Amino acid sequence: MKNPLREFHCRGALVYAVLKLSKSFPQEPTIFTTENRELAEEVATMLAELGAIVDIRRDLHRLKGDTEVYSVAIEHENTRQLLQEYYHLGRSPLTKDFVERSCCKAAFLRGLFLAYGSMTNPEKEYHLEINALTPMFAEEIHALAVQCGIRFKMARRKGCEILYIKESEQIEDFLTLIGASTSSMKLMEIKVMKTVRNHVNRTTNCETANLGKTISAASAQVQDIRFIEQTVGLSYLDEDLQELAKLRLENEAMSLRELAAMLSTPISRSGVNHRLKRISETAEKLREQGVTAPETE
Ligand SMILES: [Zn+2]
Repeated sequence: MKNPLREFHCRGALVYAVLKLSKSFPQEPTIFTTENRELAEEVATMLAELGAIVDIRRDLHRLKGDTEVYSVAIEHENTRQLLQEYYHLGRSPLTKDFVERSCCKAAFLRGLFLAYGSMTNPEKEYHLEINALTPMFAEEIHALAVQCGIRFKMARRKGCEILYIKESEQIEDFLTLIGASTSSMKLMEIKVMKTVRNHVNRTTNCETANLGKTISAASAQVQDIRFIEQTVGLSYLDEDLQELAKLRLENEAMSLRELAAMLSTPISRSGVNHRLKRISETAEKLREQGVTAPETE
């Protein structure tokens, strides 16, 4: 997972979430444990930026069938003390200063989800949850998420307050908000597959497939037009082709019909298709003559 947080305030908000909601920190060195190494490293890197010396320990977790578990910890007691003072750690209410900006709210939720959240395999059922530790935190996080357009439901499990979402669209929104776009995309793909399997919304899917075709044909056209532009110049083309060539360069995703409508003298869709073919043939002839585009850096 690539770290999407460029701003220092956002990284601070993520670290704040991870430290504040820790069950054991700062009384004990361990902040949280995870099976995901990248995730442990993401948090550790941000803590290190604040000047903390962070340990990532790798243990075997007996209860989880000997899977590897990484624990993120700060051994140095003074550092723990400093972090406690700076971030007002403990079970006191959230310090709003750290999550003032909307970007920081999203970063805060990302930290919570990465360290204390989970998502069940969406192929079985949609379920995303965060362990909010105490009823007060649950309320506060719920309110903060609402400001970002996310509505968690609350439940209590084994003495822990759980915030959860079951609706797939809300889960997608949440994952997109916190920048977990890869898994968010994957979830969407699975949902699309399900939809196709159920023979619902078939047309939407067909349109998507057609759109893909349009774009790949267009990018070949754009390549040809660029080639002509860089070698002999667009004025080399017949006059009726020049306008279309410029239009295509500026509107790569546009359908033939839309392009046709934009020409100063509108022509039919097949007319546009014919002209684009002539442009590509021109490019092809130039290539055959040994004309080559200047090296691009
Ligand atoms: Zn921010």
